[in-house]
Amino acid sequence: MSDGDPRVQIELCERYGARNYAPLDVVLTRGQGCFVWDVRGRRYFDFLSAYSAVSQGHCHPRIVAALVEQAGRLSLTSRAFHNDQLGAMLERIARLTGFEKVLPMNTGAEAVETAIKAMRRFGYEHRSVPEGEAEIVVMSGNFHGRTTTIVGFSDEPAYRHGFGPPTPGFVLAPYGDVGALARLMKDTTVGVLLEPIQGEGGVVIPKEGYLREVRALCHERGVLMALDEVQTGLGRTGKMFAFEWETARPDLLILGKALSGGLYPVSCVCADDEVMRVFSPGSHGSTYGGNPLGAAVAVAALEVLEDEHLAERARALGERALERLRKDVRGEHIKDVRGRGLMIAVEYEDDRAHDVAVALAEAGVLAKDTRRSVVRLMPPLVITEEQLDEALDLALPILAAPVVRG
Ligand SMILES: *Cc1c(COP(=O)(O)O)cnc(C)c1O
Repeated sequence: MSDGDPRVQIELCERYGARNYAPLDVVLTRGQGCFVWDVRGRRYFDFLSAYSAVSQGHCHPRIVAALVEQAGRLSLTSRAFHNDQLGAMLERIARLTGFEKVLPMNTGAEAVETAIKAMRRFGYEHRSVPEGEAEIVVMSGNFHGRTTTIVGFSDEPAYRHGFGPPTPGFVLAPYGDVGALARLMKDTTVGVLLEPIQGEGGVVIPKEGYLREVRALCHERGVLMALDEVQTGLGRTGKMFAFEWETARPDLLILGKALSGGLYPVSCVCADDEVMRVFSPGSHGSTYGGNPLGAAVAVAALEVLEDEHLAERARALGERALERLRKDVRGEHIKDVRGRGLMIAVEYEDDRAHDVAVALAEAGVLAKDTRRSVVRLMPPLVITEEQLDEALDLALPILAAPVVRG
């Protein structure tokens, strides 16, 4: 049920909601595949995909069916008991990632927190780091979620301002610079946490070889490497995992977002047993983590990813989109056009990205600005070639215009 007047919904949110978001003025009521519709019945291409959570497309019938079926049977048991869905999800994720063990949580931030706890404990138990001194190196421009600990090591003022004191034990290294990372590592360094491509940071793609070199350095120093693939993982960049572009298999792999195809929050950390063994009963947990509803949804979401070859689609369609963008979006106001798979960005010389996103929405394409100068283009991976072309026909003139039209 929805009121046809978007102002009613927006006013309710402004009146009763905390003001921690500044959404565009569209009120959505329905989604299917790469499309969403607003309360007035206007159709938009979704070129954000809920930050890549909806890679399988909105309301994918197979995932919806799994959700509905499981919701009518058993939704939550807590981990105090076994349920008949969790095992299948763990096995599926382990097979897909090649890791021996999987620890389920709900949100991306919780999975990142889980990886941080694992790396710290591993350092104390296996590297004899003195208690309380473990350090984790994180990257400039990082985004790993919104918990107090995570925003404490962000270098984006909007994320961290006023939320201190920051959790100690984190050191910032410049993203993309292995030499600097090596110099920052100490005897007490237990882990390195990074994104293979920085999504919120502006689709920052490190130069070829960086991940492989970080991998080698971590090996050499006996430091755990944790890759946050909450946004890049599960097909988005044209491979199932972004680390496969450099065969830089991490020690801990963090997944979320598309793991549930946008239907229900499911995240996880994957690692081999040597690392995961640091968790003993009572040391970590989550009431909803590993619940049967989330597990059934995640299994269906992963089946869709594999059966519909969404990683391969992302690669082919991403190349097609980038080619058109590179040809048509140029000029003195354009700093860069870049992407991998269907994770694409247009970077401007000035701070116009928000205005461009507003103009794109008016033209029927929902995209989101990030870091003021970057417009990110991330459609659901199920988008067809024809749909992609149609969306680009709408978006290209706006992305390329020297002056943003209001
Ligand atoms: C979105 C995101 C997170 C946080 O996920 P939430 O589910 O919002 O907590 C963590 N890391 C990366 C790379 C992300 O893109």
